[in-house]
Amino acid sequence: MSDNCKTCDGKISGRHNIRCAICSGVSHLNCIKPSIPPEMLKFPGFMYKCSSCSDGRPGDKTSDNYLPKLMDTLSTLNSKIDNLQADVNVVKNQQKSVTESLTFYGNKIDDFSKQITDFETKLKIIPKLESNLTSVSSSLNTLQVEMNQIQQQARLNNLEINGIPETSNENLITSVNQILNVLGLTSSTYNTCFRVPHFDSKNKNPRSVIVKMHSQADKDNVIAAVKKRKGVKLNEIGFSNTNPIFLNDHLTPTNKLLYKKNSRILQKFGSCMLDQRL
Ligand SMILES: [Zn+2]
Ligand SMILES: [Zn+2]
Repeated sequence: MSDNCKTCDGKISGRHNIRCAICSGVSHLNCIKPSIPPEMLKFPGFMYKCSSCSDGRPGDKTSDNYLPKLMDTLSTLNSKIDNLQADVNVVKNQQKSVTESLTFYGNKIDDFSKQITDFETKLKIIPKLESNLTSVSSSLNTLQVEMNQIQQQARLNNLEINGIPETSNENLITSVNQILNVLGLTSSTYNTCFRVPHFDSKNKNPRSVIVKMHSQADKDNVIAAVKKRKGVKLNEIGFSNTNPIFLNDHLTPTNKLLYKKNSRILQKFGSCMLDQRL
């Protein structure tokens, strides 16, 4: 094996030389024409064939094989690029999908923010509504009081009788006349009488009888007479038992509740406060 360059016959030293795969002759890299690109030297499987060995020996494992291998490599690279391009397309599609999702949820957040703003606006109205409600409630209470007064005013002449048993063929006028008679009063002091439904529908007692007297004085006379006589009993108006008959002012439901409440307080504290007419 020669230590000299096959081309210039100069001495071979260092790394910048190459050995022919056929004749094993060594040449300076700088002496080879055309020169070999540095990339080709790094290519796996590359073999150099000197100019002397290039003639008539096609197909050797020399630089002649470089082009097909390069083409194979390019083909492989193209295939990889195609795969990469496909991957990039997938990523792009995913990115598009993500962008669409972000836009969708962004719109949702905008809608939600708007709803919260609307809600906050409505919340600010609540104190005013509360104030209005208090005012309306106060007015309603006043109206209820006034209504109760008007209703009670309309009942001033009325007498309410409880405890008269209900019968299928009852004659209320006879019963009322008998009561007035027992009390020493005349039947000409009232206009009419009738039963009224119970305020509480579960009440199974006989329904109350309302007697419309000619005047408040006529009604007061009846109640005064009842007190003086200490009551009237059923057997005094033709019934067989001695249960008491109750005669009172005809109170509105509201005043009846107030009267019951007052009565309970009076019983509880044993006071003889007032015989108050409501
Ligand atoms: Zn040389
Ligand atoms: Zn050679």
